[in-house]
Amino acid sequence: MNSSSPQFIITPQNEAHVQAAVICSRNLGLGVRVRSGGHDYEGLSYKAAGPFVIIDLVNLTKVSVSLDTSTAWVESGATLGELYYQIATRSSTLGFPAGVCPTIGVGGHFSGGGQGTMTRKYGLASDNVLDAIMVDANGTILDRESMSEDLFWAIRGGGGASFGVILSWKIKLVPVPPIVTICNVPKTLEQGATKLAHLWQQIAPKLHEDINMRVIITLANNTKGEKTAQALFNSLYLGTIQQLIPLMNVSFPELGLAAKDCHELSWVQTFAEGESVKVLMNRSHEIKGYFKGKSDYVNQPIPESGLEGMWKVFLEGEAGVMIWDPYGGKMSEIAEDETPFPHRAGILYNIQYFSKWEEAGVEAQRKHMEWTNNIYKYMTPFVSKSPRRAFLNYKDIDLGRNDENGNTSFSQAGVWGQSYFKNNFKRLALVKGRVDPSNFFRDEQSIPPLM
Ligand SMILES: Cc1cc2nc3c(=O)[nH]c(=O)nc-3n(C[C@H](O)[C@H](O)[C@H](O)COP(=O)(O)OP(=O)(O)OC[C@H]3O[C@@H](n4cnc5c(N)ncnc54)[C@H](O)[C@@H]3O)c2cc1C
Repeated sequence: MNSSSPQFIITPQNEAHVQAAVICSRNLGLGVRVRSGGHDYEGLSYKAAGPFVIIDLVNLTKVSVSLDTSTAWVESGATLGELYYQIATRSSTLGFPAGVCPTIGVGGHFSGGGQGTMTRKYGLASDNVLDAIMVDANGTILDRESMSEDLFWAIRGGGGASFGVILSWKIKLVPVPPIVTICNVPKTLEQGATKLAHLWQQIAPKLHEDINMRVIITLANNTKGEKTAQALFNSLYLGTIQQLIPLMNVSFPELGLAAKDCHELSWVQTFAEGESVKVLMNRSHEIKGYFKGKSDYVNQPIPESGLEGMWKVFLEGEAGVMIWDPYGGKMSEIAEDETPFPHRAGILYNIQYFSKWEEAGVEAQRKHMEWTNNIYKYMTPFVSKSPRRAFLNYKDIDLGRNDENGNTSFSQAGVWGQSYFKNNFKRLALVKGRVDPSNFFRDEQSIPPLM
C-alpha cells in the first residue's frame, strides 16, 4: 500500500471527543483510521493511502468490574493485559476468554472475534460481549438498545473498522479456578513429532473443555546440532496438576505428559510469563520490526505423509512459526450465524503462519514473505476449501482488497469476505448499507455497503 502520513493523530479523552473527531473528519473529507492496541496484522489502524486522521484510543482504558453481576465494562483502548490485571485485582476466581498476548487492544480484538486459551470452554471474546457503546458515521452515540440487534451482531466478529468507533464493551466474566496448570512438552521430529502431531489433530478438539492444548511449531536443533522442527504441546488446564495427569493418561497417553512438564499458577499469571503480573499493565508492543501472518482452518486430520511434506517446506525457509489452536467444545455449540465469526462445528483447529524479522530492506522481506507463501501454498490440499477460510484477527491482505479509495463491489469483496465470514458476509454488507451507506468507515478490507 502507498500509505501517507496521517494529517492528525487524535487522542480522545472521552466520548464527546470521539464524536467531534468523526464529525469533523467527515466534514473535512478526511478518512479515519481507528487504533486501539495497534496490533493489526496489516497496519490498517494507522496506515492509509489518502488524507486521513488516526483516532487513537490510548486514553480510553478504563476497566470497571462488577463482582455482583460477574460483568465488566472495558474501554476499547485498554489492552488485554490491563483487562486481565484489573479483573484479577478484584477476584481470583473470575477471568475472561480472550487472546494470549497482553498488549493487544480490546477494540480490535473483540470486534474481530478474539480467541485464546479458554476458547474451547467459553467461546471467543466476542461471544461474551453483552453490550457496547459506539459512535456511528453520523457521530451519534449508540448502545446495544439504540444501535439495533443487527449492528450489535456485526461488531462482534465482523470487525469494528467497517461500522464505527466502538468506545467500550460490557462483557460477561467467566469462572476460573484459583489454581490452573500450564504444561509444555517439546518434541522434535527425531523425538516423534510427526506421529504426535497427527494424533493431536484427532484428540485435542475432543479433549475435556477444561483442557486447551495447542501446538507451537518452531525451528530447533536436534541432539547432533542440526536444524530440525519442534512441536511444542502447550496446554492450559483449568485445575490442578493432580487432576490433569490422569485425564491426559486416558485421553492422550502417547504424549507421556508428566507432572515435571507442568506447573501450577493463577489464571492471570499465565499471561505474565514468569514475571510479576504488574507487567500486564505495560502497554509497549513486544514485536519489533516487521511481521506477516496468514491463517487456515482444518476440518480433516492431515495425514502423516502430508505432515512429512509440511516439515520440509517449514524447514526450507527457516523463517517462521506455526501455531495450531484446537477448537471443539463450546466453539462447536455456537451456530455459524450467531455472530459474524463462522468457524464453528466441524472445525478441528485453526492454523496461524507467522513470520517476523527485524532487518530492513527488500531481501529480508522477500525471504520471510516467500516462506509464508510457500507453506501456505503447500497446505492448500489439507485445509478448508470453497471458501478457504481465514480468521479476521489474523488479517491477510493477500486474500484481496478494496481499491485505493476503499471502495469495491459486493461480489469482489466476497472473495475475502467469504473466507472470513462465509455466509455471514451478506448480512454484514446489508448492515453496513443501513448504518454507513456512504461508506465513511472504510479501509482495504472493510465491508462494502449493500443496499
Ligand atoms: C503479537 C500478537 C499476538 C496476537 N495474539 C492473538 C491471540 O492470541 N488471539 C487472537 O484472536 N488474536 C491475536 N492477535 C491478533 C489481534 O487480535 C488482532 O490483530 C486485533 O485486531 C488487534 O486489536 P488491536 O486493537 O490491538 O489492533 P488495532 O491495530 O488497533 O486495530 C485492529 C483493527 O480493528 C479496528 N479497530 C480497533 N479499535 C477499534 C474500535 N475501538 N472501534 C472500531 N474499530 C476498531 C482497527 O481500525 C483495525 O482495523 C495477535 C496479534 C499480535 C500482533
